[in-house]
Formats: sequence, structure tokens, C-alpha cells
Amino acid sequence: MIVAIDGPAGAGKSTVARALAARLGFGYLDTGAMYRAVAWLALEHGVPLDDADAVGALAEAHPVELRPRADGNDVSIGGRDVTGLIRTARVSAAVSPVAAHPSVRRACVAAQRALLAAGDWVCDGRDIGTVVWPGAEAKVFLVATPEERARRRRDELEGRGETADLAAVLADIERRDHLDSTRADSPLRAAPDAITVDTTGLPIDAVTDTLAEIVADRTSGVRS
Ligand code: C5P
Repeated sequence: MIVAIDGPAGAGKSTVARALAARLGFGYLDTGAMYRAVAWLALEHGVPLDDADAVGALAEAHPVELRPRADGNDVSIGGRDVTGLIRTARVSAAVSPVAAHPSVRRACVAAQRALLAAGDWVCDGRDIGTVVWPGAEAKVFLVATPEERARRRRDELEGRGETADLAAVLADIERRDHLDSTRADSPLRAAPDAITVDTTGLPIDAVTDTLAEIVADRTSGVRS
């Protein structure tokens, strides 16, 4: 079974997806980590982020590999483990232009589909229910107000020892939302059959409970 969780930055996708996967005994696949790894490599190589050919060539020459762990995914690119390097504000600022290139998406989506082809997964991203796995048995689109999403991202960054200004984080989130939802290839969008869940003001446990109910309904065929 595949549970697809899409939504904008900071809506709680990865935290909830991880908790739900642990609860269900499913694997967890964090597709954003792949795009972040490519963005990190483009920054390392000094490749202009809007140069589709150069970024695409880089992604093709350095395959991204995700290795699921109990509490998240290790990600490497071109054989280098970048798990601890891709959650910075610098990579967040670079990732959306990189993820907009069709060549990058092709490489990442192929790797994602290869993993999802076997076993049970909770998978989060922007295009899981629409493009990567349209046949997912359960599809959820998580949303929250931009202010709440910015507060969560700021707390997450500060928890990792980065200094983060709330207004700057909010601006980054709004810029990424805009780029992610207006790109031509696989824009951020709810699948027509996704259930939208607003996580504003809700604790993680409550959101996880809601998603577990949606999965249970899908499994028992109560919802069609
Ligand atoms: O989920 P996360 O915030 O780590 O994603 C980082 C970026 O990767 C997003 O802003 C988006 O540009 C890109 N992304 C994507 N498609 C996905 C997952 C992430 O384009 N399935």
C-alpha cells in the first residue's frame, strides 16, 4: 500500500509521515531529500541553479540514493552521504529552482518509483499523488497557514543550531510555494482524490490520528 502525502513547505508532512509510517509499520520515503541533495551538489559545484542543462547533467552524472532508516532517510549523491548537509537555509533557498528542471525530476522520480514498487510506504512530497504514484491507495494534502508553517520551520532550524529569523523563513516558504506551484513540470497540487487536512494549531499526534483513520477507511473500503 502507498500513502501519498503532499503539501507545501512546513505543513508538517515529514514529521507526520514519519510518525504514520512507524505506526503502520510501513517504510518512509522523503522525496524532498532527493531534490535537496541535487541542490546541495549544484551549490558545491557552483552550477547556476537556473541552468537546466548544467544542473540536469550534474543530476545524471551523480545519482541520488535514498536509504530508509527507522526514523528517516539517509541520502547520498554521487556516493557521498549528504544527510546532515541538506536541511540548511542555504539549501532550502536553492532547492525549488533546481527541482523545477524536468531532467532533475525525471532522475528523482525514477528512483522514487523504483523504491515504491515493492512494499508498503508512506511517501511525502509535492507530486506524489499526482505524478509519482497516482494509484496510491490513500492520498492526503496537508496545509497550514503560512505563519504557522514558518514558525515550525524556524523551530526546526533552531533545533539544529541554525539561527533563523521568522520573517526570513516566512519569505523563503512563500517564495518556494510560489515556485513549486507555478512550475510547468509536476507543480505542487492536490490530486483530485486527495483528502485535504489543515494542520494549523493541531499537534502532530492529532494529525497522525486523522491520517491513520483515513488509511483505515481506505483499507476497509469505507471511502471510495
Ligand atoms: O519537502 P522539502 O521541503 O524537503 O522539499 C524541498 C523542495 O524540494 C520543495 O520546496 C520542492 O521544490 C522540491 N520537491 C519537489 N517534489 C517533491 C518533493 C520536494 O519538487 N516530491
